Amino acid sequence: MKVTEHFKKADGKTHFTFEILPPLKGENLRTLFDHIDPLMEFNPPFIDVTYHREEYVYKQRENGLLEKRTTRKRPGTVGICAALQSHYKVDTVPHLICGGFNKEETENALIDLHFLGIDNVLVLRGDCVKSESRFTPEPGGHRYATELMEQVIDMNNGRYLDDEQVNTYGTDFCIGVAGYPEKHSEAPNMQADLRWLKKKVEMGADYVVTQMFFDNQKYFDFVQLCRSEGINVPIIPGLKPITTKTQLTILPSIFHIDIPCDLADAVEACADNKAAAQVGVEWAIKQSKELMEFGVPCLHYYSMGKSGSVRKVAEALF
Ligand code: FAD
Repeated sequence: MKVTEHFKKADGKTHFTFEILPPLKGENLRTLFDHIDPLMEFNPPFIDVTYHREEYVYKQRENGLLEKRTTRKRPGTVGICAALQSHYKVDTVPHLICGGFNKEETENALIDLHFLGIDNVLVLRGDCVKSESRFTPEPGGHRYATELMEQVIDMNNGRYLDDEQVNTYGTDFCIGVAGYPEKHSEAPNMQADLRWLKKKVEMGADYVVTQMFFDNQKYFDFVQLCRSEGINVPIIPGLKPITTKTQLTILPSIFHIDIPCDLADAVEACADNKAAAQVGVEWAIKQSKELMEFGVPCLHYYSMGKSGSVRKVAEALF
């Protein structure tokens, strides 16, 4: 079922959802189920599965030539979505990214997703390769989420890459996109960022999921700005309970977000990570309660490979 249909069926209730990372190469599906099992009693209508381009280094061979070696790979978003749908009878939302894929590879992934009965995709650009300072599209791939969306929409309309005529057997993906209450790091200003978000919605995005934020006022202001720009689709808040003291510096540097003083001070004062995680859970519960009162259709938790804190938050709310 489509994400938007789940929202309609919820009848004003707030859904609990979360996203998982595909395990690193060498791990197995059981590890993933062990991570997801504790969260299933809170009845998520769908689970997001992130997509990650491979990371690589260039090693110099004896003859002086450079050899590209893959160092880190999280394989199988398409397969993992199928496995989750079959194991838990839950809908899934695979993330689809521009980075590292050309149009043919994207089309193949979308064909597989369609055949597997997966109705949703979160369409994203993806981050830069760690060794690069700017995003470089794959040769024959897409530079922005808008371009990737165009390909998904073409397929929804029965237009595949090599076909000269429109097919009657198009796909029918519900499309989500990303939004940034604290602005995307590369956008010159919020207005410019919102212009592109509006473009994604005008093209046919059905809903927006936000980057994580720790100050609800930033989300409320963002929603208001979006509405005043005519962006009227559901805007799903993305939340992450802080789980370690080092996340106070890691999260802002990776995700370009602020951590409010009260939260940072409380985490800083903790004797260890166990205490820091408890502060993180309490903060996320407080944020979630206020967002539920605001009437959000769904709370989306970034589990980042660890379910313990997300479970504690869900226990208090759902
Ligand atoms: P875009 O919408 O393409 O925007 C990128 C930048 O370009 C912005 O500054 C925007 O203002 C500008 N822009 C947009 N369109 C245009 C245009 N047509 N012309 C000129 N400028 C434009 N990353 C992953 O690798 N895998 C994941 O699974 C993943 N999941 C995510 C889930 C969520 C909910 C969020 C919020 C982010 C996720 N990311 C993921 C990170 C995301 O890929 C990065 O934040 C990336 O840098 C931007 O992606 P985007 O889709 O917002 O890009």
